[in-house]
Amino acid sequence: MKRLKHWTLFSVAVALASSATSASWAQEYLNGIEWKEPAIVTPGATNSAPPSDAVVLFDGKDKSHWKNADNWKIDGDHLVAGRGSIVSTDEFGDCQVHIEWSAATPPKGSGQGRSNSGVFLMNIYELQVLDSYDNKTYSDGQAGAIYKQTPPMANAMRKPGDWNTYDIFWTAPRFNEDGSLKSPAYITAVHNGVLILNHFELKGDTPFNRPPEYKKHAAKGPIGLQDHGDPVRFRNIWVRPLSPVEGKQARKPFLRNGDKEIPIEGK
Ligand code: MG
Repeated sequence: MKRLKHWTLFSVAVALASSATSASWAQEYLNGIEWKEPAIVTPGATNSAPPSDAVVLFDGKDKSHWKNADNWKIDGDHLVAGRGSIVSTDEFGDCQVHIEWSAATPPKGSGQGRSNSGVFLMNIYELQVLDSYDNKTYSDGQAGAIYKQTPPMANAMRKPGDWNTYDIFWTAPRFNEDGSLKSPAYITAVHNGVLILNHFELKGDTPFNRPPEYKKHAAKGPIGLQDHGDPVRFRNIWVRPLSPVEGKQARKPFLRNGDKEIPIEGK
C-alpha cells in the first residue's frame, strides 16, 4: 500500500514536470535587441594558422611588418632575436594575438638569462618570454608572467628546441581626458593550450625597477618583441583586432506564445 502511494506521487510529479516543460516550450523569451550579424571569419587550416581576418605580422618570409628589425635574422621560417627590440608597424587596441616561440638549444645561461624575450602589448605591457623549462627564477618573471605583477597559473613550458605557442586575448586600458585611468587592461593567455592568465587585471606597465603605473597613451599601440640579449626564435605571428558585438534595443523584451506577445512586467 505504502509502495503504491509512492508510485502515485511519483506519477503526479512526472505529469507536473512534463506540463511545465511543454508550457516553457510554447513560450519563448525575446530580448528585443536587433543584433548586427557577426562577421564570417574563415578559420585557418589549423587552430594556429591565421584566420581570414587576421593581420599577419610574420609568416616566415619577411620582416616588412616590423620596425627596427635589421639585426633580427630570418632563419628558415623563423625570426631570431637580435640587437634591439622590434615593434610592429601595425597598431592594435583590443586584440587576439597568436605567437610561437622557441628557446635556444642547447640552453644557455640561467634564471632571467636563459632565452629571455617578451611580448609587449601596446609596446608597454610585457608578457614574459623565457626558457622556464627546468630553470628557476622569480615566479612573476617566468614564462607566461605579466612581468613583476603575476606569475602564470601554470608552467606549461616545452623543452628547449620545441615550439611554444601563446594565444593572448587583450583588453586595452582606457583613459579619461584628464589622463586618469578609466578602465584597466585585462589579459587572458593560453600557453601551449593551457590557460595561464584568466582575465588578469593589470596594475599598470611592467618595468624592472619601479612599481607598475598607468600613464595615458593612445588607444592603439604596436606589438613589441624584446631583445634581452638571447637568440629566441619566433614564428607564425598574427593578430586579430577585436571590436565589440553590435546591436540596438529595438523594443522592450517580451514573451511570445504562439501569436500572442506578452510583456514582461517591470521591463
Ligand atoms: Mg623579458
